[in-house]
Amino acid sequence: MNVLLKKRIIMYSLFLVLMLVISSFFIKEKAISVEVETKVETDINSLAISKDENGSIGFEENDFFKKYTINCTKDITDLEFNEEKDNLKIKLDKSQVLNINIKKGSKVNPSESNFNDDKNLYIINFKKLIMDENYVHVDFQNKKKILVFIKKKETPYKYKVVVDPGHGGVDAGAYVGKLLEKDLNLKIAKYMLDNLRYNGCNVVLTRDKDKELDKLVKTDLIKRSAIANDKKADLFVSIHINSNTVSVYNGVSTYYYDPSGFQKTERLKFAQTMQNEMLKSDDWKDMGEHRQELAVLKRSNMPSVLVECGFITNASDRDKLSKEATLVNFGLNISNGVLKYLAEGNISK
Ligand SMILES: [Zn+2]
Repeated sequence: MNVLLKKRIIMYSLFLVLMLVISSFFIKEKAISVEVETKVETDINSLAISKDENGSIGFEENDFFKKYTINCTKDITDLEFNEEKDNLKIKLDKSQVLNINIKKGSKVNPSESNFNDDKNLYIINFKKLIMDENYVHVDFQNKKKILVFIKKKETPYKYKVVVDPGHGGVDAGAYVGKLLEKDLNLKIAKYMLDNLRYNGCNVVLTRDKDKELDKLVKTDLIKRSAIANDKKADLFVSIHINSNTVSVYNGVSTYYYDPSGFQKTERLKFAQTMQNEMLKSDDWKDMGEHRQELAVLKRSNMPSVLVECGFITNASDRDKLSKEATLVNFGLNISNGVLKYLAEGNISK
């Protein structure tokens, strides 16, 4: 082989290798850009927000929370969600979601709420604006709705309310068969939470599970009003169900007490407001407001009431109390009473 031919072959080979390197670089670049595009595409699946019933997700907000309502096609019995550092993620089977609208560019900023379309699942993401105080649960009134509460900022709530679900643990309170006062009280208290929080109240429960505060009833009661005093609550509400050896007694009543006339006007007014609101659902008999020296009321430093939500010993009242919807209504009405009393400017801030 002559020298010239050898040189040419080497030149051609070098050129070929160079072309191969360049072309493979382009192919690789293209592959990467496709991948990036697909990823971006998934990330901007924003949610279509609508206030009407047909919208996949309803949205409203106030100074404290952004509230989303996810409308589903069937009752959600096992809600799957996890809270991560920056997000709340809800996993839903596609068949569970009503009309999820995958239109791009909806009214809500996709960086605040969006979803990933993952085969049979939608993974709906809600961006947390602050670390804590965000929460998700199935709507108590309608199991086809999921409620998402995103707290907007660290700003403190306007008011503090201590809610006391009466009895608990070793102390069942009044009971008939398996229907225990302590369980009903706790459910009503929990049903009050959304309404109070969404409307600017920091709520403290004296118990959030089936437990007593002390084995000794007298100490247990002292501890309940002590929580309200320690937390410097603006209002204190103790939830109970009434009972009597005479089964004919029925209806709802509210108790208050003003030791030596302490906060006499405020306490009476608070009791009247609560009693009026309690009567707004389920056709309860009005048993009125009563001034009575009850342990939890006489020790509290702030206006306080003890509400008796019907008689467990009366067949008709017990029938109502056996229905979850009645307890949800009590939760809503009692919390509305608190909000109404606060809105009337009775607590100066
Ligand atoms: Zn009780």
